[in-house]
Formats: sequence, C-alpha cells, structure tokens
Amino acid sequence: MDMMNKPQPLLELREVSKRFVKSLDAAAKIANLFGAGAVEETVHAVDEVSLAITSGEVVGLVGESGCGKSTLGRMAVGLHGLTSGTRLWKGEQIDLLDAKARRAKQLGIQMIFQDPYASLNPRLRVQDIVGEAAVVHGMVSAADQKEYVESLLQRVGLDPAMLRRFPHQFSGGQRARVGIARALAVKPEFLVCDEAVAALDVSIQAQVLNLFIRLRDELNLTYLFISHDLGVVRHLSDRVVIMYLGRVVESASADEVFARANHPYTQALLASAPKLEVRKTEFFAVKGEIPSPLHPPSGCHFHPRCTHAMARCKVEKPALKEVAPLHFSACHLND
Ligand code: SF4
Repeated sequence: MDMMNKPQPLLELREVSKRFVKSLDAAAKIANLFGAGAVEETVHAVDEVSLAITSGEVVGLVGESGCGKSTLGRMAVGLHGLTSGTRLWKGEQIDLLDAKARRAKQLGIQMIFQDPYASLNPRLRVQDIVGEAAVVHGMVSAADQKEYVESLLQRVGLDPAMLRRFPHQFSGGQRARVGIARALAVKPEFLVCDEAVAALDVSIQAQVLNLFIRLRDELNLTYLFISHDLGVVRHLSDRVVIMYLGRVVESASADEVFARANHPYTQALLASAPKLEVRKTEFFAVKGEIPSPLHPPSGCHFHPRCTHAMARCKVEKPALKEVAPLHFSACHLND
C-alpha cells in the first residue's frame, strides 16, 4: 500500500496477531497421567492483520462468528494485549507508555458493546454510569457531574430527567443510548462499536444508526463499526474490511465492495445477504460446526465457500494485494 501523501492514521494496527492458549481440561490432564499426550491448543484468533483508520473515517469490519473481528476490536481499544505486532495511536506506540500516561491517551479510544444491559452496572443510576469516568479523570468536577450528564443524555436523544433511573428502567434502545452517552463522557475521538445495534429491533436499529451518523458529524468521531450484518455496515461505512479466520481477506470503499467484490468469500457473503443468518445455519448444518480459528474448516483450508480452490490454497496463505485503486483482496486468483 502506498503510504505517500496519506494523512497520518488516527489508529493504526501493524501486523497484529492474537493467540489464545486453550488449556487442558481436567479430563485431559488425568488422561495425560496415563500417557495420553494431550497438549494445549493454540488458537490464532487474529493473524497478522494491518489496519489504518484516519480521522473522521467509518470503517465497517465484517465477518461471521469466530472470524476474529471482535478480538481485533478489543485489540484496537487496548482491552486485549497483542501477541505480536504494533498498535499506534496518532503515530505513537501508547502500549509502551507507563500506565498513567497510557490511561490518559487511552481515553481517546472507547468501546461500545453489543449488550448494553450486560455492560451497565445494574446497581448504579445513570448519572453515575455516565458521569463517573469523567469525574474520576478530572474532566468535570463532582459538583458539575449532574449538569454534564444531563447534556450528554440530551445529545444522545434521551430526556435529561432520566438521570436518576437504573438500567432496568429503560427500553433496549434507550439502554443503547445510555451506553453511547457513557462512551462519549470521556470525550473520545475514536469509537469501536462491537455489534452495537445487533440486539435491537430493526426499527430501533435504524434510529440508533442515525444517531451514530449524527454524532460523527457533530463531534468529528471516527468509528470502527464491527458487524455481521452487511446492511448495517453498508448504511454507515466509508470503507469495508472483510475478515475470515483471523485474517483480512478484502478491503475497499463500501461502494466498491458492494459493486465489485473481488474475493470469493465476500462474493458468497453478498450473495447470501440479506438471508445471511438463514444461510449460515444451513451452511453450518452441512459442515457440522462453525468454522473459526478454533475449528478451521476442512476441504479448502482458507475459504470453504470458494469454488476455485487450488492445491496451492491449502498450503500457502494468499497475500493481500491491490486489485484496483485502494481495493485490496487476498486470493491466489489475483496472482
Ligand atoms: Fe479460493 Fe484459493 Fe482464493 Fe482462497 S486463495 S479464495 S481458496 S482461490
């Protein structure tokens, strides 16, 4: 990728990988006492992924369950350490800073979770859920917390009078807005949204997506928007990145991906939308289990939906190559 004349990315991940070691269960440990020879399994959840996101950009990260997209989002936000690779925030390796300096810079990157109910403390009132971090980090005084939270609730489309309520007193859509207000409270520049509207009814989804768009314009936010739903991603994203089995297989502007998908896996995803969930169930019923870094598919080693697989595909990882201006795809067919 030509890095000349490009603005400095706000967030950049360079060849980042994340491996998890799946420990032996009790049965395997006992079996090992009798010489079974069971060994711990290493799962390559994210495998040498590079991603640079510039200020104001909305990048949609798409893939099915187990493809590594949520792990990559948590790595971007700093919730998962990197097994290898580099994370840069405004060109700086903030993971190398001491804890205090890192925490301060880290405030610029916030995450919005899929299930706002699970991520909101049920015993706290919204005033504390939303305002606590801003007070702790000295962004507002304790005396000003109430007024500050009222302004944030207003910004996300909630009645400021709701600040004395507990999470269970809100609807799903309202809780999603509380989660967004909480993230905004520490004045982030970059939001990682992990399936942020997946738990909502379709009509509420549209309202919350429109809120994300409005907030981007009002606050000059940058998003990494993680979703299995191509419709959601198309609605919101400037650029779309497709992941499969821990790797990026295609990346291009949203218009380009939806008009001229290059990778056989992306083409299969697009062909199966909008019945993605139904097709996925059928597909898994045939295959037996969800292909993931833990359960790599048999047959074509990399892309079970590819009908063009060559012998080479099973032994050699395809490199990400530019197949059209700013359109990248990882497939041997492009060699
Ligand atoms: Fe198919 Fe091979 Fe291309 Fe993968 S690299 S999509 S298996 S042709």
